[in-house]
Amino acid sequence: MILQIAILFFVFLAALCIGSFLNVVIHRLPRGESIVHPRSRCPACSTPIPWYRNIPILSYLVQKGRCAACAGKISPRYPLVEALTAILLTYAAYWDPVLLHWPFHFYFLSALVACTFIDLDHWILPDKITLPGIVIGFVGSFFLPLGPIASLLGILVGGGVLYLVAWAYLALAKREGLGGGDIKFLAMVGAFLGVEGALVTLIFASMTGSVLGLFLIAARGKKGNTALPFGPFLASGAALAFFYARPFWIWYFNLH
Ligand SMILES: [Zn+2]
Repeated sequence: MILQIAILFFVFLAALCIGSFLNVVIHRLPRGESIVHPRSRCPACSTPIPWYRNIPILSYLVQKGRCAACAGKISPRYPLVEALTAILLTYAAYWDPVLLHWPFHFYFLSALVACTFIDLDHWILPDKITLPGIVIGFVGSFFLPLGPIASLLGILVGGGVLYLVAWAYLALAKREGLGGGDIKFLAMVGAFLGVEGALVTLIFASMTGSVLGLFLIAARGKKGNTALPFGPFLASGAALAFFYARPFWIWYFNLH
């Protein structure tokens, strides 16, 4: 028990650092910049941030959300991404204590966090995250209960279903409703979670996306900008499917 708590505490600290790294990925990857070089800089004054001012969450709190060099405001999104990553990864480690599974779980959940915020900022789900994700998910399936056949089916159905939806939407509405990024993202979800997980993700994303979309139309009227990136909905659906796919599946089919 004590050992388990100690391990989870260590995972929590490591996951905070992963979250800190994800902030770099979210900021630099869509701009085509290296995610290893140079070291972190203040987005306002470009002063390099020394390691002791770059401690996840703590530095933000100690410096009261401001840069130590220029006193420019630092977005609360940085500690938020760190906290979110730490909670998700620690919960995953608690939920599945098999050490061998952790790298695969951690890649998947980290990809969901990065994709959410990159899509919010840039309306893209980068290939550099989703394509390696498809491969890593498939490789992981050899070690995970899912198994490679279910993973392969997940890739085909996950990618295929959205491809058909995108094609049908384009044919009917004569404009693009879904991007290729969404298709590759759901293929990645299928690689990690199988057909069931990919479909739960899509159902959840469509439900929450349309509810929020209708709410936006009601609030802003049809003339306002009511378009939403689909990625954050897909990513939250995928996180839900990761932890709870089977119960959700049963619930959904009992309703219909
Ligand atoms: Zn600064």
